[in-house]
Amino acid sequence: MDSQTKAEPMRVLVTGGSGLVGKAIEHVVKQEGGCLEGEQWTFLSSKEANLVDLQQTRAVFEKYRPTHVIHLAAKVGGLYLHMKENLHFLRDNLRINDNVLQTSHERGVTKVVSCLSSCIFPDKTTYPIDESMIHNGPPHDSNFGYSHAKRMIDIQNRGYFAQHGRRYTAVIPTNVYGPYDNFNFENGHVLSALMHKTYAAKKEGTPLQVWGSGTPRRQFIYSLDVARLFLWVLREYDEIDPIILSVGEEEELPIKDAVEMIADALDFKGQIVFDTSKSDGQMKKTASNAKLRRYLPDFTFTPLSEGIKKTCDWFVNNYDIART
Ligand code: NAP
Ligand code: GDP
Repeated sequence: MDSQTKAEPMRVLVTGGSGLVGKAIEHVVKQEGGCLEGEQWTFLSSKEANLVDLQQTRAVFEKYRPTHVIHLAAKVGGLYLHMKENLHFLRDNLRINDNVLQTSHERGVTKVVSCLSSCIFPDKTTYPIDESMIHNGPPHDSNFGYSHAKRMIDIQNRGYFAQHGRRYTAVIPTNVYGPYDNFNFENGHVLSALMHKTYAAKKEGTPLQVWGSGTPRRQFIYSLDVARLFLWVLREYDEIDPIILSVGEEEELPIKDAVEMIADALDFKGQIVFDTSKSDGQMKKTASNAKLRRYLPDFTFTPLSEGIKKTCDWFVNNYDIART
């Protein structure tokens, strides 16, 4: 930790604090002893400040006077929402990120940890992908808007360090899932959308419709694991260069295997249909966690089947409040 952090307890502002990753960080801070004595943690939602708007961004920073920022707020969605709204993803995220980073700089925030994503990596590449390869070629066409906006965070972080000595950095999680995800059929990410579809198919006695062939491969990380790693990055990780937060390459699996885990978790015994008229998106984006493992060789990831079971249980028990 830097000297300023030691001198005064942190006041941490978490943008996007009401979402999947934000709620997981809140859990780790409040329920797992993640908050140290004297620290103040504030979890923002868009209801308190629309960070696309510079005046609202400045006002919320004025109100909470953070020393540290975890920047999660973003327009987020699954493959099929990206394909419909690439321009919207680009413009909203460029503005949110510039407002948060520049306001952090103007107010003297010591450290910002922002969130990139493994789907911003080049489409035509060698595998596994590592942190040095983010800008080596265009991203997959399906999410070019989101990807270019996210890549600019890394460029801005370099700029704030080069010109102002600011230690602003970013993490790169692979596909995240967990409680408080967006379970919307059309707009959610694959696991949450399929949990909801499986739940509905079981209730209605209809087949489960999986979109695409089920052959694309993904590395999934449980939101609580992301949250625990975020706290480590905030307190201990000192590089400007980003770090991939992921399970190992050997844990990458085809979507159809994850579908079976969801069916098991929800005790769905019906037919599973793959709708190959829908896009598969990126076939794989295998990420290396070698850098993370050099820092944290012993970090234990939640096994996928266990995380899926916990998330399905949360969804069933919280159906009334879940984002559907
Ligand atoms: P999420 O559940 O959709 O949450 C998004 C958060 O951003 C919510 O708190 C939302 O607030 C806030 N937000 C959206 N637009 C905003 C605006 N205009 N002003 C202020 N706040 C706004 O998404 P998530 O999965 O937690 O994503 C968190 C971060 O992780 C994002 O930066 C995302 O790109 C990154 N990430 C996600 C994944 C994944 O698989 N989910 C993978 C890699 C990286 P309200 O809900 O109050 O509107
Ligand atoms: P990505 O990992 O960035 O591509 O985003 P997603 O989390 O949306 O995952 C997309 C992958 O899951 C594609 O291969 C889709 O074909 C597959 N998939 C299967 N069923 C669904 C579904 O119901 N919703 C979504 N979003 N993806 C699905």
